[in-house]
Amino acid sequence: MSNIKVRFAPSPTGYMHIGNTRTAVFNWLLARKLGGKFMLRIDDTDTARSKQEYEDALRDVLQWLGLNWDEEARQSARLDRYNQVVETLKQQGRVYACYETAEELEVMRKRLMSRGLPPIYDRASLKLSAEQIAAYQAEGRRPHYRFKLTPGIIEWQDMVRGVCRYDAANLADPVIIREDGSYLYHLPSVIDDADFGITHIIRGEDHVTNTALQVQMFEALKAPIPSFAHLPLLTGTEGKLSKRLGSLGVRELRDEGVEALAISSFLAKLGTSESIEPFYNLDSLAASLDLNKLGRSQPKFDVEELKNFNTHYVRSLPFTNVKDRVDVTEDFWNKVRGNLEKVSDINTWQQICSQKLNPVIEDEELTSSAAAILPSEPWGENTYSEWVAELKKVSGKSGKNLFHPLRMALTAAPQGPELKTLLPLIGREKAYARLMGKAA
Ligand code: GLU
Repeated sequence: MSNIKVRFAPSPTGYMHIGNTRTAVFNWLLARKLGGKFMLRIDDTDTARSKQEYEDALRDVLQWLGLNWDEEARQSARLDRYNQVVETLKQQGRVYACYETAEELEVMRKRLMSRGLPPIYDRASLKLSAEQIAAYQAEGRRPHYRFKLTPGIIEWQDMVRGVCRYDAANLADPVIIREDGSYLYHLPSVIDDADFGITHIIRGEDHVTNTALQVQMFEALKAPIPSFAHLPLLTGTEGKLSKRLGSLGVRELRDEGVEALAISSFLAKLGTSESIEPFYNLDSLAASLDLNKLGRSQPKFDVEELKNFNTHYVRSLPFTNVKDRVDVTEDFWNKVRGNLEKVSDINTWQQICSQKLNPVIEDEELTSSAAAILPSEPWGENTYSEWVAELKKVSGKSGKNLFHPLRMALTAAPQGPELKTLLPLIGREKAYARLMGKAA
C-alpha cells in the first residue's frame, strides 16, 4: 500500500467555487493516480467566518463530483494539539510573543515603505525587558505570536514551478496566533500536514510565499517536507478572475445541468498542453494526470466554454453513465442524446414520443396528406426517406415548408432530434393521429 496522502483543505467561509474545485480535483486525481489517500480537512480556525452551511455545501459538492475522501479532520477540534506544539516551539525560541498594536505595526510598515525598504517586522518585541512586558500587560495589551524564521535560503522543487528559492532575510516572521488567541492558517496547516502524513500538497500559486514560511515550520517540527505543486490561478476572460467568476458556485452549475465529470474533465486539462476531452470516469482522468503538462501561465476560465464543453459532453455520454438517472432505453438514449443540452432534457423527448400531446397544425393539407401516405409498420431503414420523397411529390412542397409543419404536428416543438429518428420512437399510431390533428 502506498503511503501517498494528499489533502483538500477548504475554509468553510464560502461556497465551493470553480477555483477551489480545481484544487480538489487535482488533489483527488493525484491520490488516485498514485494509489494514495485523499483527506478532507476543514480549515475552520476562523470561527467568525466559518459556517456549518458552507461546510455542508462543500461536502455535498465533493460528493456530487465523486471526489470521495478516505479520512477527514477539522482544525477547530485540534486546538489542544496546536497549543502543545506552540509550547514546544516557544521553549525552542521559534515562537515569540509580540506586543505591538495593529496601529503601531502599520506606522512601522509605512515608515519602512517610505524609505524604499521591504516591510519586514524588526523583531522589536524580542528585545523587550521583563519590565516593559509587565507594563504592556498592565496596560491590558495581549500578545500575538510570531514564528521566528532562521536565516538562510529556503528552497524546494515545485512539481509545477520547478526550483523555488527564497531568502529568509526577505521574509517577515509570520504571525501565527492573534491577540485574541485564535490561530492563523500557517502553523495549524503544517502541524496537520505533519501529523496526518501528508506527502503532496497541491494548491493555488497564491500560497507560494506561505510555502517558504511553512518549509521552515516543517523543519522546526522535524517533520518531512511534503512535495509541493502550486497551480497557476485561473483568470477570467477579461484578465483577473472576476469576483463573480471566482465565486461561481459549483452548485449553480450543477443546477444548470453541467455534469460533474464534465467539470472535472474541463478543470483537469485547462491550462495544460493537452486538449480538453471528455472523460467518462474519474479513474481514466486520474490515469491521464501529468503535472508536467501544466503551463506556468494563468489559464483563462470562461464559463461559456465550460457550458459548451458540457453540451458536447452530454451528447457523447454512454448510456451506462446516465442509466440510473433517466427513464429511457439505451436505444432511445443513443438516438436522442445528440440533441440534448443537458441529461434531463431526455425526459422531455421521452414525453414527446410516448405521452399524449396536442399537435400543432400549421398546414392541414400537408399534414393530412402525410398521414394518408404514412407507411404501415414495420418500418425499415429507408421508410422515412421514401415517405418524405412521396410527400414532396404529392404536396409539391419541400424544405422548411415541408419539414416545419411536419415537426410541429408530430412533436409540437419547433426544434429537436431529426424527424427520421423521432418517427419510429413515436410509432405509427401516434404519428398518424397527430398528423390528423388529434391529441395522441
Ligand atoms: N484553507 C486554506 C485555503 O483554503 C488551505 C490552503 C492549503 O491548501 O494549504 O486557502
